[in-house]
Amino acid sequence: MWEIQKARFFKTVAALDAGPNTFPEIAFAGRSNVGKSSLINVLTNQKQLAETSKTPGKTKNLNYFLTNDNLFFVDLPGYGYAKLSAAEKARIGELVDGFLNTSPKLAGIIALVDIRHEPSELDFQMAGWVKTTGKPSLFVLTKADKLPHTQKKVQREKIITSLPASDEFEFVDFSAVTKEGKPEILKWIAKTAFPQKAKAVMRTN
Ligand code: GDP
Repeated sequence: MWEIQKARFFKTVAALDAGPNTFPEIAFAGRSNVGKSSLINVLTNQKQLAETSKTPGKTKNLNYFLTNDNLFFVDLPGYGYAKLSAAEKARIGELVDGFLNTSPKLAGIIALVDIRHEPSELDFQMAGWVKTTGKPSLFVLTKADKLPHTQKKVQREKIITSLPASDEFEFVDFSAVTKEGKPEILKWIAKTAFPQKAKAVMRTN
């Protein structure tokens, strides 16, 4: 299985034109507290890596992590902080929306939604942004360990039916505690970021 062997914080970007524009990028979007840092840490096999995005000066910007020396994870600002002013929220919205629609290296988007709750207004807004990019998008339903199996299925169906254009997205349950969903997410990242390699492997099998 394709794995992330190494990962490190690369840079914080506060303006649209300041991205590295070198390797393929996978963006991670979700409201604060949804489990975005936990997901990035599990995928990269690190305990604290994504906490960097929560340190002063970085929370409202795009945070780039370099993985395997050939792929960027772009941690988008967690939105929905009640404490932010309207002007700050607008700036973050513009940065995220602008990044998703103009980054030449963006290969795909991982959007996070808490499996226990109906999608909020903010989740709908995120789904709208994601859809307009036309990029391959994977919705990760987080904190799956908090629900029993049957309820998980019910919630998943509810979320899928309530999100507009959900037939254009892929969905996977994930738990940072049990690591459920990790192999599927890694597989999706590999095929999305490196479609040529994925095709070559299929041809040789
Ligand atoms: P972020 O703000 O989106 O980066 O969210 P964090 O990754 O920091 O997670 C927010 C809180 O939810 C923390 O207390 C985590 O320990 C908890 N959490 C995140 N993912 C999971 C999960 O899969 N299962 C459980 N039980 N808790 C989780």
